[in-house]
Amino acid sequence: MPPAATLLRDIFGFDAFRAGQEDIVSAVASGQNVLAIMPTGGGKSLCFQLPALMREGVTVVISPLIALMRDQVRALKAAGVEAGALTSGNTEEETAEVRQALEEGRLKLLYIAPERLAAGSAMGMLRRIGVSLIAVDEAHCVSQWGHDFRPDYLRIGELRRALGVPLAAFTATADAETQDEIIQKLFDGAAPERFLHGFDRPNIHLAFQAKDSPRRQIMDFARARKGQSGIVYCGTRARTETLAQALREAGHNAVAYNGGMEADTRREVEARFNAEDGLIVVATVAFGMGVDKPDIRWVAHADLPKSIESYYQEIGRAGRDGAPAETLTLYGPDDIRLRRSQIDEGLAPPERRMADHARLNALLGLAEALECRRVKLLGYFGEEAAPCGNCDLCDTPPATFDGTEAVRKALSAILRTGEYFGAGHLIDILTGKATEKVRLRGHDDLPTFGVGKDMSKQNWQAIFRQMMGHDLVRPDPERHGALRMTDPAVPILKGEAGITLRKDMVQAGDRRPAVKA
Ligand code: ADP
Ligand code: ZN
Repeated sequence: MPPAATLLRDIFGFDAFRAGQEDIVSAVASGQNVLAIMPTGGGKSLCFQLPALMREGVTVVISPLIALMRDQVRALKAAGVEAGALTSGNTEEETAEVRQALEEGRLKLLYIAPERLAAGSAMGMLRRIGVSLIAVDEAHCVSQWGHDFRPDYLRIGELRRALGVPLAAFTATADAETQDEIIQKLFDGAAPERFLHGFDRPNIHLAFQAKDSPRRQIMDFARARKGQSGIVYCGTRARTETLAQALREAGHNAVAYNGGMEADTRREVEARFNAEDGLIVVATVAFGMGVDKPDIRWVAHADLPKSIESYYQEIGRAGRDGAPAETLTLYGPDDIRLRRSQIDEGLAPPERRMADHARLNALLGLAEALECRRVKLLGYFGEEAAPCGNCDLCDTPPATFDGTEAVRKALSAILRTGEYFGAGHLIDILTGKATEKVRLRGHDDLPTFGVGKDMSKQNWQAIFRQMMGHDLVRPDPERHGALRMTDPAVPILKGEAGITLRKDMVQAGDRRPAVKA
C-alpha cells in the first residue's frame, strides 16, 4: 500500500497536504468514523478520495450535487483512478460501464446520489460489491432545520448499519446544532473522530460599523481603495443600481449585478470582473458563484448579511491569493428588523425559524463584539484563536461602559407601554419629549417619562441598536416595529445580571466613524 504522501503526489499532483488534510486522511484510511468540517474550497474531497485508494474494496461517496460528482469522477479517471457515478444524469452506457467495473471488482470509488438509496435494489447492490467505506459529502443535508435538507440523507444511517463499515462525513457548516444532528442521524449518536480546520483567513481584515449614512460610509471605504477590485453587497436590487451609479460618479469603475438582470448581462459582468483589474461590482448575494478571482482586495456589505455563515462566505471571496484584503460590514436597527421579519414571515417550521434567529444572533454578536472579531468568528465555527491583530477591534479597542442602568430604563419603558411601540416613541418617553403621540397616550405620566434625559436621542438609538444586537428586544412580527422583550433580558431587568455596552457610538457630537486608510 503506497503511503499517502506518494499517492498525493503521483495521483493528485500536490506537493503537500493542506492544513488538516493529513490527519483526516490517516483517520479515514485507518477505518475510524470521522466528521470533518472544512470551509468550502478547503480540500475536502481529497480527504476521502485518497483513503479510498489506500483501502481495499469500494468507497461509496454520497453527494447531493450531480454536476460536482461528475466533475470528480472525470478528474479521477483522468488521473487513472477507477471511479464511476450512479446518478439520474447517467446515460445507459455510463451506467452499464459502472456496473461492469463493479462486477469485475475494479471500481475504487462509486459516487451515488442520495435518491438512489431509496430504491430497494441499491441496498442489495451495495451489499454485494464489497463496500469498505462510506463517504458523505455535504453531510449537513441530513439536518432537518438547515437550508439544504435532503430527506434521502436520512437513509444513510441505515446504510451504514446494514454494511457495517466506517463512515466519513464532510461539511462546511460548523454550527453546533448541525454537528449534533449529523452525529445523531449518521452515526447513531456515537461520537466520531471530529476534525475542524481551516476557517481562519488571516489575511482578511474584519471591520463593522454602525450604519450611519451608508452611502457615505461605502464611498469613503471605496475611495481609500481606489483602483482595487472589490465587491459591495447590498440587500436590495434597487440599491445595487444606485450605489453603482454613485461610485461611477465618484470616478470609480463600477457596475451593478443582481438577479433581476438578464442572464447574458450577468455573465458579462462576471467575465469582466474576473478579467479586469480594479472593477467594483455592486451586487446582491446572487453574485459569487460564478466568481473565481483570487485578487479581490475588498468586500463591503452595505446591508447586514443574513447569517454568520453568509457573512463568512461573502467576505471569504476577498484575498483568495493570500495577500492582504479588507472588509467592512454596515449594520443598523433597520437591518436587524428586516432580517428578523424575513425569518418570521418565512414558511419554515418553528424550529427552523428558531435556528435562523440563532444564526442571525451570532452575526449580531459579532457586530456588537467588544473584543477581537476573529476570536468570536472562529469561536462560532468551533476553532480557538488568539486576538488576531487584524480586525478593527484589535486595531482600536472600543471604549465600553456599564450599560445595565440604561438598558433597564429602556426595558421598563417597553413594558410600561405594553410592548406596543417602536424605538422612536420609546426614546421620546425616555428623554422626556412630550410629543403629541406621547401626550395622547398619557405616556408623559409614566414613571419612566424623562428618566433618560441625561442622554441624547442618538445615544439612546445606539443603545436600542445594541439591545437588538444582543437580542434583548425583538421587533414583534405582528405589530409593525413594536419592540418586545426577550427571555435573556429578564435577568437584566430583575437586576440579576449586568451588561457592558460600546461607548464609541454613544458619544454626543462627532459620530463619524473612523475609516482606516
Ligand atoms: P471542497 O470540497 O472542500 O470545497 P475541494 O476538495 O473541491 O474543496 O478542493 C478545493 C481545491 O483545492 C481544488 O481545486 C483542489 O484541487 C485543491 N486542493 C485540495 N487539496 C490540495 C492540496 N493538498 N494542495 C493543493 N491544492 C489542493
Ligand atoms: Zn482581532
